[in-house]
Amino acid sequence: MKQNRREFLKKSLVAGTALSVVNPLNIFAEEGKGKMSQGKLNFSFKPYTLHLKHVFTIATNSRTTTPEMLTKIEWEGVTGYGEASMPPYLGESHKTATEFLSKVNLAQFNDPFETEDILEYVDSIAPGNPAAKASVDIALYDLVGKLLGRPWYKIWGYDKSKTPYTSYTIGIDTPEVVRQKVKEAAPYKILKVKLGRGTDKQMIETIRSLTDKPICVDVNQGWKDKHFALDMIYWLKDKNVEFVEQPMPKTRVDDMAWLTEHSPLPTMGDEAVQRIPDVVKAHGVYSGINIKLMKCTGMREAHKMLNLARSLGMKVMIGCMTETSCAISAAAQLSPEVDWADLDGNLLISNDPFDGVKVIDGKLTLNEYPGIGLKPGNYKI
Ligand code: MG
Repeated sequence: MKQNRREFLKKSLVAGTALSVVNPLNIFAEEGKGKMSQGKLNFSFKPYTLHLKHVFTIATNSRTTTPEMLTKIEWEGVTGYGEASMPPYLGESHKTATEFLSKVNLAQFNDPFETEDILEYVDSIAPGNPAAKASVDIALYDLVGKLLGRPWYKIWGYDKSKTPYTSYTIGIDTPEVVRQKVKEAAPYKILKVKLGRGTDKQMIETIRSLTDKPICVDVNQGWKDKHFALDMIYWLKDKNVEFVEQPMPKTRVDDMAWLTEHSPLPTMGDEAVQRIPDVVKAHGVYSGINIKLMKCTGMREAHKMLNLARSLGMKVMIGCMTETSCAISAAAQLSPEVDWADLDGNLLISNDPFDGVKVIDGKLTLNEYPGIGLKPGNYKI
């Protein structure tokens, strides 16, 4: 199998125009002699704090900063970048991520193309820690894409013209602030509105007094009664809402299945769906799933979850935390294959150290940069 994969990669490289920062053919020339490069993978990380442009309020909490880890994997003079975004309510922190990442020994590997083995190892170091694991995964995928001289959407065979419009998120707030945010969202074609704190109709009516753009709503488990939830969904449907994300607590599986069966709008599981086994559990309970790199340990598992959900006939959206352009660009590589994208996390922060995939006229616009789509640069991380 390994030989076949390398043969395939070799042919892919020969067939395309190399964009890579190194000449990838040299790597295979060496391999062709029966000897892989002996360079070790060099992994490093450092804490970072994202500053949010606005106080961000959802059904369960408010905050102005997000703790982060920035990661790098270097091999043979090529650098892949990664990141962990750790909103406090999910349980990871600078402390937990430092503890976890200190245990990651990538120097035992000298072939970055063995992504499955490397990331299986990372996953096996300790349970949990999905964002910290994602920070290794994203850096490795960035590195491998750069070595191949291709962005991942091309390696996966996706058509970049199929990327969806991305939504702009409006948190729960006073009508005055909501009006301001609707103005800021002018370039976006879809609004994602946070609900679930008892001001739901006021939030939607405020927005509808200003615009008739499609809205999707995220209740973040805020509705506790299934009949109330169904009444709200019918009301929202009349307001041109496209879908409802995580309307009820993730533990209320039977109520949620009933709600999905009766709902006139698709229901999307977010808090209820983290990793691969949750996709199977969500089948028949939700219409679809929200995949986030920080929940599912990164691009490797996100890609598998997307394929699994599709094979089960489920809808798929790809979402994010407040993140830099690093993780947003990585998630965007999957976006040609999803129904909805909610990848605005980098637009909500004021200190993004990266430059990557952009939103142009409201649409995610994938670029030609190899790896995860970061504009080449010597990022000071
Ligand atoms: Mg959500």
